[in-house]
Amino acid sequence: MSDIVACRKCGKLFNYMLGARICPACKKLQEEKFVEVKQYIREHKGANVKEVCEQCDVESKQIELWIRQERLQFSAEAGVKVPCESCGKMISGGKICSECRNKLAGQLDSMLKKDVATLKAEQHQGKGKKLNGGTGMHYRH
Ligand SMILES: [Zn+2]
Ligand SMILES: [Zn+2]
Repeated sequence: MSDIVACRKCGKLFNYMLGARICPACKKLQEEKFVEVKQYIREHKGANVKEVCEQCDVESKQIELWIRQERLQFSAEAGVKVPCESCGKMISGGKICSECRNKLAGQLDSMLKKDVATLKAEQHQGKGKKLNGGTGMHYRH
């Protein structure tokens, strides 16, 4: 299964399958840029985001995204960090800090357990009763 969607970068329509909503051409360009950026960082230890943006002609937002995806890692001396999306603490990669990650994992765990419990309860209550599939649609006029 696939969808025809507009590329987020160039607006061209393409057959969307998986991943980021960008067309194959833009994806290829982006990957080439990624290799370039990675190479640059390897050769210029201590380079910060601003420098890489200027030298590789890439948006800082894109670099931050790569850091978030943990594809790109700056050296410790560069001091490039992104804020934890949960508590704002500066981290060197990923979306959230390890503390928040642990906290979230715990929450998710209990949430899942709760979900299973409620699901079981609902199944129990709804025994013999069919799901009202689509009957609500008729009232939407
Ligand atoms: Zn494109
Ligand atoms: Zn955090």
